Amino acid sequence: RAKAAGRNAVRLFLEPMQQEADTRLALERGLRTALEQERMPTQFALHFQPQVNRRGELIGAEALLRWQHPQLGELSPTVFIPLAEETGLIHALGTWVIGQACMYIRAWDRDGVAFGGRLAVNVSAWQLNDPRFATQLEAQVRAAGIEPSRLTLELTESALLRDFDSALETLGQLSAAGFRLALDDFGTGYSSLSYLQRLPLDVLKVDRAFVSELTPNSANPLASFIVDVAHRLGIAAVAEGVETVPQRLALERLGCDGLQGYLICRPVDEPGFRRWLTEHQQARALPQAQRNTHD
Ligand code: C2E
Ligand code: MG
Ligand code: MG
Ligand code: MG
Repeated sequence: RAKAAGRNAVRLFLEPMQQEADTRLALERGLRTALEQERMPTQFALHFQPQVNRRGELIGAEALLRWQHPQLGELSPTVFIPLAEETGLIHALGTWVIGQACMYIRAWDRDGVAFGGRLAVNVSAWQLNDPRFATQLEAQVRAAGIEPSRLTLELTESALLRDFDSALETLGQLSAAGFRLALDDFGTGYSSLSYLQRLPLDVLKVDRAFVSELTPNSANPLASFIVDVAHRLGIAAVAEGVETVPQRLALERLGCDGLQGYLICRPVDEPGFRRWLTEHQQARALPQAQRNTHD
């Protein structure tokens, strides 16, 4: 009986692991197939989340990748990006993301959609650590008819710290080509302040973790510190995960340059983003008195 109970315990322990391994394998196969059969447009899509300045004017948007899995439904990038990285598929996926970003910028320009801002694209550590990355990216973007200055590349601390010297070289190349560079999720990784000065950054993104703790009466010291560091470095601070009016007001008081979050707009698909742009533009065109009642 004890033995049977033991076996049961082992089974109880192993089954979820086996399931997890199965799911992983299925996901990996799905990712590979979606990429290889060029069925990506039907399964993968970019969603967009606007970024505004303190006056509420559009300054840019972040492109966020979505995977509509045929069986599993919509999967979070926090699940499939690590998988793409481990399997090396991130390079093909990253190239596809850049291609889509350029395609949409061109379409918005062509259709007279009021997107004068910059489009931010997330770049994984694996992409950045490829020594050909900067050269290939510039070639791809120029071939698509887009100026590199229309794109902001969002990098994480872990991407930079993997091999700092080679990352520094790549960032120098990207910056010289005209790309804007943002450090994403700042303050959540294992980083040292000393390297910040050496990187050609344009934006520090205040992680949601610090934004969520902002209240009307107590400014989170870390949020305030990050905005201050950005300004002392002569670059912009953009807060992510702004969900409430008190958070927004606190960030405005801190002098945070950019705001992004559900309060302004959730990430939306491309038609939704166009609609938001149109409505937002109309809202901005209202006289001040009327605008205040809408805010
Ligand atoms: P991130 O770059 O830090 O993106 C911000 C995340 O916060 C997004 O999650 C966004 O949907 C979410 N978010 C935005 N506003 C709010 C808010 O007000 N409240 C809350 N609770 N969340 C908010 P998402 O789309 O699930 O993406 C997760 C992460 O996946 C991203 O974090 C980024 O690191 C990665 N990712 C997304 N797209 C790509 C991509 O194309 N390539 C790569 N390499 N990574 C990507
Ligand atoms: Mg990001
Ligand atoms: Mg972020
Ligand atoms: Mg984040």
